[in-house]
Amino acid sequence: RAKAAGRGVFHFYDDALDDEIQRSLLLKRELPRAIKAGDFSLVFQPKIKLSNGAISGVEALARWPHATLQAISPGEFIPLAESTGQIVPLSEWIFEEALQTLASWRNTPLDGVSMAVNLSALLLKRNDLVDEVRWLLDRHSLDPALLELEITETAALENLDIAICQLNKLRELGVTIAIDDFGTGYSSLALATSLPADCLKIDLSFVAGMLNNGANAAAVNSTITLAHSLGIRTVAEGVETEEQLTYLQRQGCDEAQGYFFAKPLPKDEILDWHGTHAGRLLPAA
Ligand code: C2E
Ligand code: MG
Ligand code: MG
Ligand code: MG
Repeated sequence: RAKAAGRGVFHFYDDALDDEIQRSLLLKRELPRAIKAGDFSLVFQPKIKLSNGAISGVEALARWPHATLQAISPGEFIPLAESTGQIVPLSEWIFEEALQTLASWRNTPLDGVSMAVNLSALLLKRNDLVDEVRWLLDRHSLDPALLELEITETAALENLDIAICQLNKLRELGVTIAIDDFGTGYSSLALATSLPADCLKIDLSFVAGMLNNGANAAAVNSTITLAHSLGIRTVAEGVETEEQLTYLQRQGCDEAQGYFFAKPLPKDEILDWHGTHAGRLLPAA
């Protein structure tokens, strides 16, 4: 009986697993072609200063629009690109596009807004990272202080000594460092106190839960306290409601990012968005 019942079930899982493997093989094969063809794009999500509602920066997020395979999220293609080494050429493209976009905002209302780029674990380990970043900033005549690199706790932990050394060199250049998805790792406290960083990004899972889950609220509050006692900033990610925003303001969070303010937007829509929303982003007190 068990066998009969089990059979269909296993068959079902087999098919699902098979589809997943097929898809990942297909995507792995597609990646190099897509990178060469310039199929990727970047979208930019504003970060808002909670003291005055000004836009402090944007985060660049990669997208892979695909004609036949719909909705390939970065949560899917970034790990794939890391596993095949394709993350190196892909990141080259991402950095070039992000810095070119940042340079294009010179003498516009977005002049002085910073650009945050997510740095993959694999790049953090590379010897040429610091030189590449310096060269890119020079070539676009950009103030290094306008570039923020986001590093996840997991990426830093993979090779802590190298991470600390690289991040120190990047900060000597004038680039700022944010620890992304803060609080989701196993040794967040140790990392926050040993990594050279300018900002902790509170993971969106805590923000999503903080209004009805005491543990999530505790994580948010203590991250803000920790950051401030280290003399660094906090950014809350995934802010979707006014209630969440009000809570974060009361806790003294420095900046926020999320659908409440804006979804990640293509570069030609960011200027319009800023024109329409600047100075009107915080609800009247
Ligand atoms: P992340 O760096 O923590 O980025 C935040 C994610 O939250 C983004 O997902 C963003 O679109 C999403 N988000 C923003 N506001 C809200 C909100 O209010 N509600 C909800 N539910 N989500 C919100 P996305 O774009 O799918 O990126 C996922 C992850 O993929 C990123 O997490 C980052 O780790 C990675 N990633 C994205 N672009 C790049 C890239 O260019 N390079 C590298 N190395 N990783 C990237
Ligand atoms: Mg990020
Ligand atoms: Mg994050
Ligand atoms: Mg994340």
